[in-house]
Amino acid sequence: MTSGEKLCLACGLCCDGTLFDNVRLGPGDDAQHLKALGLPVAVTRTATPVVHFRQPCAALCEDRTCRLYTERPAQCRSFECGVFKATQAGRIAFAAALRLVKQARRRADKVRRLLRALGETDEHRPLGERFRRTQRRLESGAADAAAGETFADLTQAVHHLNHLAHEKFYTKADAP
Ligand code: SF4
Ligand code: SF4
Repeated sequence: MTSGEKLCLACGLCCDGTLFDNVRLGPGDDAQHLKALGLPVAVTRTATPVVHFRQPCAALCEDRTCRLYTERPAQCRSFECGVFKATQAGRIAFAAALRLVKQARRRADKVRRLLRALGETDEHRPLGERFRRTQRRLESGAADAAAGETFADLTQAVHHLNHLAHEKFYTKADAP
């Protein structure tokens, strides 16, 4: 197993709804087959329909392996985050890469805790969507003073997570 692969097994952030809201299928992906394998494939109702499935991915296992590894979509095959690339190329030591992954996971966990404290408990939706839903609900007047303070903490936690994601994990081509 390469050091990059070991890192992914400690991470899972590109599959669990932290870095991405969804996975887009491409022309080479068999949408019907992937749906039959348990991925909730859907088509957007936009002017240019997009075939995709939502994260957190239904194929992500507890041990952060992919249940559909050999049949995973093209986007999953091609994506390598900045930390993975740097580790594989030897530009960063494995221990330093692992620290970055752990730091990002801690920041994501903090966002999840604050979302739950604000009543956003749907763990089957991606973090970004859960944050936007909470923001809309509170901005429509549903916030008392305590919720307002928690939402300020949440906004800061999301900012910290996004900052780390953009600095270390996204590459220019795949930033959402
Ligand atoms: S975000 Fe990077 S290190 Fe984490 S699982 Fe994805 S490719 Fe691997
Ligand atoms: S299909 Fe596998 S690689 Fe792709 S998002 Fe799901 S768990 Fe990750």
